[in-house]
Amino acid sequence: ATPTALLTGTGRGAQLGILIRGPQVLEDTRTVDTIVLDKTGTITTGTMAVDDVVSLHDASGAELLRLAGAVEAQSEHPIAQAIARHATDAGRLPAARDFSSAPGGGVRGTVDGVTVTAGRTGWLERNGIRPNDVDMAAFGAVEDAGTTAVWVAIDDAVAGFVTLSDSIKDGSAAAIERLRRLGLRPVLLTGDNRAVALQVAATVGIDAADVHAGVTPAGKVDVVRGLQAAGATVAMAGDGVNDAAALAQADLGIAMGSGTDVAIEAADLTVMGNSLEQVAQAIELSRRTLSAIK
Ligand code: ADP
Ligand code: MG
Repeated sequence: ATPTALLTGTGRGAQLGILIRGPQVLEDTRTVDTIVLDKTGTITTGTMAVDDVVSLHDASGAELLRLAGAVEAQSEHPIAQAIARHATDAGRLPAARDFSSAPGGGVRGTVDGVTVTAGRTGWLERNGIRPNDVDMAAFGAVEDAGTTAVWVAIDDAVAGFVTLSDSIKDGSAAAIERLRRLGLRPVLLTGDNRAVALQVAATVGIDAADVHAGVTPAGKVDVVRGLQAAGATVAMAGDGVNDAAALAQADLGIAMGSGTDVAIEAADLTVMGNSLEQVAQAIELSRRTLSAIK
């Protein structure tokens, strides 16, 4: 290997806003044949918006939003930011205490003397909260329609849920096509629900058979490991705290520059422009640099 070629490659990378952790990373880009893509913030913008607040019991939608917003204000998840922003628009938020959260699960805290829990069904269950069949049917119907929804519980009883939407980044479909032409099989991996995941996959050109939805952060590692066990050499692109372990497990971990610090630390390569086009560009560039060295 000539150091000059390496420097050229990484220097050109820096110009393009692609930060490569070390020269050995280039070697890994040559053999990757599968690219696992996180949904929220990687294929989509990750800037979510609240569409609806649904009250199922005593608390009004406004109260539910105020309480959920107060707790979500302490989380950096795209869902949390959307709920906190929406709640702030409606009025000043009280402070939350005793905050706890699980990446890819949800949040919990105390607001105005009540305990507020927000997140996916599994997160409620982990906190001993079980939605009844009627509530579950209402939530399930919304999810089945392809909408992202998160539960809100007050004092460990379901109060309702919030629905949110996100949009796909402009270049995502073209970039996925480009990745395919580079010989990579795209796989979608998300903690969000299956109907949302399938809609996004169909829009950007990922096969339904290659969609893994409702996956916890630990489950994301298992999916990557499973692909590797089946003989694949795996690149993974992600941005969240929930992606960090899977990025580390992948043969080539790629972080979005707007992503969380933990994701960037776990990755081999960071694309500052946050686009999947840059991910394809990074793989092309590294392969070219490598053939210049060899
Ligand atoms: P993705 O893989 O699409 O980036 P995550 O793994 O971060 O999604 O989250 C998976 C699911 O966990 C979300 O769809 C949501 O139901 C729930 N969740 C995660 N963080 C939060 C939060 N701060 N508030 C409410 N729900 C959350
Ligand atoms: Mg994400």
